[in-house]
Amino acid sequence: MEIFRSVAELRRWSRHCRTGSTPGALKGHDFSRAVTGIGEGPASASEGIPSIKPDGSNDLIGLVPTMGALHQGHASLIRAARARCAHVAVSLFVNPTQFGPNEDYGRYPRSFEADCRLAEAEGADAIFAPAVEEMYPPGASTFVEVAGLSARLDGASRPGHFRGVATVVAKLFIAAEPDLAFFGQKDAAQVSVLRRMVADLRLGLEIVVCPIVREPDGLALSSRNAYLIADERRQARALSRAVRWVEAMVRKGERNTAVLVEAARQVFAAEPLVRVDYIALVDWATLEPVEVAAPGTLFAVAAWVGTTRLIDNAILG
Ligand code: AMP
Repeated sequence: MEIFRSVAELRRWSRHCRTGSTPGALKGHDFSRAVTGIGEGPASASEGIPSIKPDGSNDLIGLVPTMGALHQGHASLIRAARARCAHVAVSLFVNPTQFGPNEDYGRYPRSFEADCRLAEAEGADAIFAPAVEEMYPPGASTFVEVAGLSARLDGASRPGHFRGVATVVAKLFIAAEPDLAFFGQKDAAQVSVLRRMVADLRLGLEIVVCPIVREPDGLALSSRNAYLIADERRQARALSRAVRWVEAMVRKGERNTAVLVEAARQVFAAEPLVRVDYIALVDWATLEPVEVAAPGTLFAVAAWVGTTRLIDNAILG
């Protein structure tokens, strides 16, 4: 596995992947999803993913953007990338522009060596771990703003967050030129923002969304779970309980947003250390609120558990 610190190295690797020989280890794999794109309009289908060969092997480049402190949620993304792409890069970058002034940028967990070991064990070919000045050269003043979407859900409580995310992910996409980029459904609103960006900028790559990986008791894995002290860790289960409860109500036929939100609120009411930020049912593509939950509606919650902000969600059936 190679480790790159500069954008130029990452770009050279990506170009080499395209022109160099193909490992060809992916024969027989089903790449049909790669050419059609998921949940996106004609932009990705027509601009296409040209690297699939008649024998089923490919030259696809997969990118897994992360902020490091890797856990099994990240590992699942790397595995998904490995299963579909001949070349896999994982980026490790704690992106300062997506943190607000009073947020946890300074104390965000960092574990570079363990991250490299995990990425290598899951089959990554390259790590990209730039310094802040590499991604934001002195005087950097170019940002990517996905208007509208960026002000909803987490964007409403974390002003500037999605602008920071879109900017850094655009930079990563421009440098690595991936065919597929892998993200977790855990950050469902982030996926909506990035899909809009990819479509608007005609980046011609596919955003692949991977399921939420959870602890045995339901808590979604997150690098921020490390902040929780024992009582908080116990009460943090309220997020996944609320999600499961709402999913169960929908399965039984309840579709009214007000009723579902109130039911979720009751789950949180029993936990004094938990303060709800939002409980929302929205269209997953636009993040606009819906009054009636339909198949594909995003149910999302965010809550402060002590001083730690956690999120969870489900795509409703
Ligand atoms: P982060 O390092 O927190 O920025 O996350 C990097 C990527 O991993 C994002 O696409 C997240 O959605 C994804 N991710 C984080 N936690 C999980 C999880 N529990 N299950 C699946 N994907 C996750």
